[in-house]
Amino acid sequence: MLRNFRIDKFHAEIIPKSTLLKVLTFIDRQGIQTPFLLMDTERIRENISIIGKSIKNSTVFYALKANPDPAIADFVNKEDVGFEIASEGELAMLSSLGVEPSRIISSNPVKPIRFLQKAAEYGVRYFAFDSLEELDKIARYAPGSNVYVRLSVPNEGSEWPLSRKFGLEIDDAVELLSRAEGKGIHPVGVTFHVGSQCQNPYNWNIAIDKAKLLWDKAESKGIRLTLLNIGGGYPINYTKVVTDIDTIERNIANLIGDRFPEDTAIHLEPGRAVIGDAGILVSSVIGKARRQDEDWLYIDVGVFNGLMESLGGIRYTYIVEAGEGSEKWWTIAGPSCDSFDVIDRYATLPDPDIGALILILSSGAYTVSYASEFNGFSIPKTILI
Ligand SMILES: *Cc1c(COP(=O)(O)O)cnc(C)c1O
Repeated sequence: MLRNFRIDKFHAEIIPKSTLLKVLTFIDRQGIQTPFLLMDTERIRENISIIGKSIKNSTVFYALKANPDPAIADFVNKEDVGFEIASEGELAMLSSLGVEPSRIISSNPVKPIRFLQKAAEYGVRYFAFDSLEELDKIARYAPGSNVYVRLSVPNEGSEWPLSRKFGLEIDDAVELLSRAEGKGIHPVGVTFHVGSQCQNPYNWNIAIDKAKLLWDKAESKGIRLTLLNIGGGYPINYTKVVTDIDTIERNIANLIGDRFPEDTAIHLEPGRAVIGDAGILVSSVIGKARRQDEDWLYIDVGVFNGLMESLGGIRYTYIVEAGEGSEKWWTIAGPSCDSFDVIDRYATLPDPDIGALILILSSGAYTVSYASEFNGFSIPKTILI
């Protein structure tokens, strides 16, 4: 007998029925202690099989920061996917799994010196940059490396924009690429990031057009580029069904096919799309309150121990256990004493009992990787199912 969750058709549009069924079966037992994160490995495998499929000459590097759980990294590694990393910690994890350096790249345009040294020592050869200072660092601490320049591109339509912190305009990018060779490093390509959870497919059009302008300008200065790294940004279903990856990739493949030489190597760095919709946080209702005109629901996962992205505008779909009453609007808050710890202001849910379980769909990416034990609330353990 499965627990009595209030499930409707919509939930099976957001995530696969098979994932939901696996989760319901797992939690249908006595004495489970929340919170924890269940990850459906079948779904991860399926995501991996789709990503990059429609783009010729493409290699996929999973952005490890999305969820660096060792068991997940191990699983992804065994599926023959590479990794995009930015820190000594991430490098150490991959090294402990025996990941070959040829399957690791680093696309953060500003890297700590010690990380550069360690990565170069390990054999990593692909590094992004977007400043003269970084070029000098790479030349000194990772000599002989291949470098690709990060272009600034519009991030409108992405739930989690990344544009202002990184990226150059075309002329500056070409200028820096032309300086690389003299420093003993190889200028091989260009990268961009359209923003995470990008729901505007035209962001890729604009970005790829801009990369093409740079490509040609570089060529006119005698720099023959060979690598186009299109970053991450593929969206997943949170509260609505988004454009599927295959559709996005066919568009990208057409654009690239029209503009770039046939032998151009394409690097992809998906994070969210690899593991996001494979994860379901299992949480419990710990309190309820009615204040002024608001109904508050308190649960044992909040902004600090897993749902940080809710601060930036990511909203989730929830499934609650039992609850007799009709649906109403809830403000959902985490367990800590901090007033920032509010996850959702407009969630429609049935009225659950204290102690009821609440499932948070599509919560496999950028949740536990951000989490802290602020206020003594534990970080959800990750369990592969
Ligand atoms: C975070 C990050 C990614 C992954 O982005 P998603 O939106 O999760 O796909 C890829 N590349 C770089 C450089 C990143 O910083």
